[in-house]
Amino acid sequence: MKRHAPKEPDLDPRLLKVLRDISQDVFGPDEDIKNLDFATIEKRSREVAQRVARHLAEEAAAKQAQDRHGPQPCPDCGRPSSGTIETRELLIQDGPIQLQESVYHCSQCRRDFFPQ
Ligand SMILES: [Zn+2]
Repeated sequence: MKRHAPKEPDLDPRLLKVLRDISQDVFGPDEDIKNLDFATIEKRSREVAQRVARHLAEEAAAKQAQDRHGPQPCPDCGRPSSGTIETRELLIQDGPIQLQESVYHCSQCRRDFFPQ
């Protein structure tokens, strides 16, 4: 008996248009796809999905870091502390990303903290 995965909702038409362009880049023209084995198709698809996931994660984290304006209260003493944006490499499920995050320093407690 064939097993069917639950039907997913249709992708947004804007995303489908982008995916058609990406498909051309990843697999080449339709004539080239005929010559690819499925393992290659799956591998290339997965690589693109991972690149997209890393990009989305980096962008979202950068927006969060840049949206924090002004001083934040120190979790220990409550004193308003100024912050900076720092970048570090983080390994996520889909590979390494350059994570931007807000780092605050309390001069009173001599400690760094990362507000959520
Ligand atoms: Zn403090």
